[in-house]
Amino acid sequence: MLKKYVLLDRDGVINHDSDAFIKSPQEWQPIEGSLEAIAQLNAQGFRVVVISNQSGLARGLFDEATLERIHEKMYASVREKGGDIEAIYICPHHARDLCECRKPKAGLLRQFALDKQVDLTQTVFIGDSLRDIEAAQCVGATPILVKTGKGQQTLRDNPQLSTSLFIFENLHDAAHYLITR
Ligand SMILES: [Mg+2]
Ligand SMILES: [Zn+2]
Repeated sequence: MLKKYVLLDRDGVINHDSDAFIKSPQEWQPIEGSLEAIAQLNAQGFRVVVISNQSGLARGLFDEATLERIHEKMYASVREKGGDIEAIYICPHHARDLCECRKPKAGLLRQFALDKQVDLTQTVFIGDSLRDIEAAQCVGATPILVKTGKGQQTLRDNPQLSTSLFIFENLHDAAHYLITR
């Protein structure tokens, strides 16, 4: 059977973003309706995977153990709503490291596709930044922009996106679209 996946950026999509980075479980706070949206996607047969740049690691703002604890909180919060995040793919690098995994590069998406044997052209990637959109487009996945997090700013900086993309207020609305289309 074809496995349907929805890929999500983390900061600004699932949880509130911060220019000062999310450095602790306390700072990780879900956006209203996002956890329920993940549960609703799961209930309709979509598996959910997170694809996230976390350059705070390379910057020394938090360590891997702390990131694990942040993700334990995220997993537990989603589980509480009856949902499940199947996996999280992280780029730990700084932009200057010129790695292949930091979005807008598509390394994390390619690794996901390899691990799960998924055709990325059948996959949706929901993000709030231009680099999410570009990473999705790079591998033929369908990008969706949400206006939470940096989404409004992304639209102001890239007005051409508004004519060429699926855009929703938040993850709740994007999930509703995917479930009912
Ligand atoms: Mg983001
Ligand atoms: Zn990287």
